[in-house]
Amino acid sequence: MEMTNGQFFVTTIDKFVRWAQKSSIWPLTFGLACCAIEMMNLVGPRYDAARFGSEVMRASPRQADLMIVSGRLSLKMVPVIQQVYQQMPEPKWVIAMGACASSGGIFDNYAIVQGVDRVLPVDVYVPGCPPTPDAVLHAIMKLKESIAQGRAKGGVMAREA
Ligand code: SF4
Repeated sequence: MEMTNGQFFVTTIDKFVRWAQKSSIWPLTFGLACCAIEMMNLVGPRYDAARFGSEVMRASPRQADLMIVSGRLSLKMVPVIQQVYQQMPEPKWVIAMGACASSGGIFDNYAIVQGVDRVLPVDVYVPGCPPTPDAVLHAIMKLKESIAQGRAKGGVMAREA
């Protein structure tokens, strides 16, 4: 229970923690291919992810809680992406950005992973080749909704499974 300007609001610790988590999702500076160029636009003046608390792209996985997989994932990169993911503290979330990250896209061959959900727990998929930055913003909004409703556990469920 908290008092502000003479008013009361009642909440639970769990809801309060989820509100804090969803209000400041910090993405990792991490790009794999052409989709990454669109992802970079997120934090520019046109799309301004700061409006949603997500403008702070961290260079260290230890300071980030969102991995936006932007681009095709080659088999050679799988150990790398998994190590980076494991270095992120929990709770942590993953957005598969674009057709390649979501399903392999046009790269239906032996060298490309046919969807990053084969190696990482994905919370939100963004269609498109490439998706526009506002589509990624929409994905962040969806992720916020899921966190607020307690549906996106942030990697915890994946580890326990
Ligand atoms: S979805 Fe399109 S833009 Fe994105 S990495 Fe694949 S080919 Fe490039």
